[in-house]
Amino acid sequence: MVDKVAQSALHDDTPNSPENNSFSPDPGLRVKPPSAINALAHRDLRQGAFWQVIPAWRDIDEATFLDHKWQGRNSITRFDALLATVAPIVPPEFLRDAEAGFAQAPMSVRVSPYLLSLIDWNHPYDDPIRRQFIPLSTQILPDHPELTLDSLGEQHDMPVLGLTHRYPDKALFLALDTCPVYCRFCTRSYAIGQDTDLVDKVHMNADSARWERIFAYIESRPELEDIVLSGGDVYNLNARNIRYIGERLLQLPNVRRIRYATKGPAVMPQKLITDHEWRQALIDVVHMGRKLHKDVVLHTHFNTAQEITWITKRALDLLHEEGVFIRNQSVLQRGVNDSVGAMQALVKRLGYVNVHPYYVYVHDLVKGTEELRTSLQTAIDIEKAVRGATAGFNTPTFVVDTLGGGGKRDAHSFEYYDRSTGIALYRSPNVDPERLFWFFDPLHTLSPAMQARWADPQQRQEMKRSAALAVGANPADRGLHG
Ligand SMILES: *Cc1c(COP(=O)(O)O)cnc(C)c1O
Ligand code: SF4
Repeated sequence: MVDKVAQSALHDDTPNSPENNSFSPDPGLRVKPPSAINALAHRDLRQGAFWQVIPAWRDIDEATFLDHKWQGRNSITRFDALLATVAPIVPPEFLRDAEAGFAQAPMSVRVSPYLLSLIDWNHPYDDPIRRQFIPLSTQILPDHPELTLDSLGEQHDMPVLGLTHRYPDKALFLALDTCPVYCRFCTRSYAIGQDTDLVDKVHMNADSARWERIFAYIESRPELEDIVLSGGDVYNLNARNIRYIGERLLQLPNVRRIRYATKGPAVMPQKLITDHEWRQALIDVVHMGRKLHKDVVLHTHFNTAQEITWITKRALDLLHEEGVFIRNQSVLQRGVNDSVGAMQALVKRLGYVNVHPYYVYVHDLVKGTEELRTSLQTAIDIEKAVRGATAGFNTPTFVVDTLGGGGKRDAHSFEYYDRSTGIALYRSPNVDPERLFWFFDPLHTLSPAMQARWADPQQRQEMKRSAALAVGANPADRGLHG
């Protein structure tokens, strides 16, 4: 046990101030000037009962707001519920815009009270959390002409329903198809959420007969060492199934590493605090993995520093104390985290709460989200400014998930990138050494003349043809995917 003194030191989050710093430098040696005061802003987590600014929740006390069941029950899935919650504090034109946005969205909408209360309702159009979860009709842009619904080809590499085996030693296990929230930019919108007016989904229920076929496949492939347990989102698996799937996978001799992937800590950290059974199930699988000399970690998905509050820190501390290692994957999104300041703040704040930034994904081509995408060049520029701002192990790799199933590539490692057409080509030798894989910048980042060329199918083929020729590929080759 930690003694009282050590414990109070542990829980003292007061930043060092110049007044209590009695250090004086050796004569003649150069002292690095102190960082600007806002360089410490990542430690200023939002405090207090911030949710009480929402009129409907003015009387909700801390115990209620920390109850994950209350969070679940009060999540917003329909426009009329949004209206009932925030109508008094937002302009009517915003509400009309959101109503039309709900109707046009290819993805279900589901927002937790936690997220809703973090939106700055004085500036809802520009708010980074609003942009991720609440579509506005006036902001929706036409999809890129090269978009298909499963543009990452996850269904193509599925030997059994719900397992994508693309890379040699790792596979993606889609345990279920629901999530605690629904993100507009979800790359699995082919499966996640309810059918909408625009899209019929592929359904993958939390179903043990389906899981048995997946365990059997994993066991039949001795090269598989690393299983990403995702969905949907493992937050929505009950504690019994968290334990069951974890134990079944750990028992397979070839499985060495498991990651539980969930956006939960970013969107409803309350569950880690008040769902004791669920938290303990995860901790027990982590401990069981350690005894077996295997690695079980949590992967989560914060996109902005604003999503990390005192509630998040309390939740993550409970996992950290038990030795649960946490990594983060973000999606680079326009108007959300596509500035140097926003990305540095996110990375530093993640480090502060002991979460390791792992990846930043360039936003994929996903139906109805073109306004959230950035160019590849934006990712390259932001990476340059983030690297060096903190520890190397807390510096994310910026990756592109290439079209047609080429998998993740370091954003910088393109074979070809023409900034005027927005066309990029990548190779992915571990997936297929023969093939080339495309990526396309959003049309709104290109010049008006270039956007006009993209509108013409013949010119579009011509631009892709010359890109292929530039990397020495024969455009007629089967090897040139897409
Ligand atoms: C992302 C992904 C993985 C895991 O890849 P890492 O680079 O190890 O994080 C595994 N399988 C599929 C299909 C994936 O998309
Ligand atoms: S939580 Fe993950 S899987 Fe679910 S909608 Fe969001 S991005 Fe998609």
